[in-house]
Amino acid sequence: MLAAVLHSARDLRIETLQDLPLAADEVRVRVAFGGICGSDHSYYHKGSVGDFAVRQPMVLGHEVSGQIIELGRDVAGLRLDDRVAVDPSRPCRHCDHCRMGRSNLCTDMRFLGSAARMPHVQGGFSQHLVVRADQCIAVPDDVSLRALACAEPLAVALHGLRRAGDVFGKRVMVTGSGPIGLLCVLAASMAGAREIWASDLEDAPLAVARALGASRTVNVASEPDALAAFEADGGAFDVAFEASGSAAALNTLIRTVRRGARIAQLGMLPPGQAGVPINLLQSREIELAGSFRFHEEFRAAVAAIVEGAIDVTPILSDVFQLAAADQAFAVAGDRRVAIKVHLAFQ
Ligand code: ZN
Repeated sequence: MLAAVLHSARDLRIETLQDLPLAADEVRVRVAFGGICGSDHSYYHKGSVGDFAVRQPMVLGHEVSGQIIELGRDVAGLRLDDRVAVDPSRPCRHCDHCRMGRSNLCTDMRFLGSAARMPHVQGGFSQHLVVRADQCIAVPDDVSLRALACAEPLAVALHGLRRAGDVFGKRVMVTGSGPIGLLCVLAASMAGAREIWASDLEDAPLAVARALGASRTVNVASEPDALAAFEADGGAFDVAFEASGSAAALNTLIRTVRRGARIAQLGMLPPGQAGVPINLLQSREIELAGSFRFHEEFRAAVAAIVEGAIDVTPILSDVFQLAAADQAFAVAGDRRVAIKVHLAFQ
């Protein structure tokens, strides 16, 4: 079977790999689609994401859907040919965090396509993928496998929504209108936010943000002073989602949210220190909440896609065959033309 293996920055090779043996509690999935995430893109272009650097060849990818083609001896509740969403998280299920229902903070997590640990956890950009059975959620046959591959980023946004707290009736700001920021706009809109602002450096994703429920958008490249008036005015936003991974955006948020506001930090900043005005955070009682991946929100995301409660199609861009992975990564990096790019594996 073929897989997209990253050897170092910009050295992605389509290689033939051996199928892995299957443990009793595992299944083999024939991968249909894999979404290119900002972190895959960062690994591809820089060889690292946040504090995690690729130090050995690694299959990229963690936003995948597919069909079950083999079942381990002890697997119950899944059948051959089931169409499944694959949760890329494989928590230990035993540590304190797992036991307290926060398995995204598991101290022994194996997350698909992540260089956070050595050896790296190989990812899902492969024709066949072995995962633990409890990582798969079966869906009806008529569910789009491409939409289903968006369950993972949707789960990230839903977890961000929980970390941000109640948005009902509130004025919300989302900085960064990549797939995660856009899905935060969608989630905040569905959760009853009164007014949603979204920012970005490009106009194209801001048009999508408006289509998904943003009432105001700000291009911080062409209108760098658009939010400055709020600084003098005591702030404008009750809740904020930082989804750009930029220290400048976090700076702007701390200066422009209202006293007592809450900011959920979803974006991964570059390594090192960010230089943000903590004294404002202190004197205005602003709460800054880290938001990392998700836990049971994955199940909620799959249900929302299956039931049609959330429509992810506005964020779907191009599909490329695995053999054209380099081209897919090039397009995925051009935010003027692409939001969520998928690889097709069959
Ligand atoms: Zn754990």
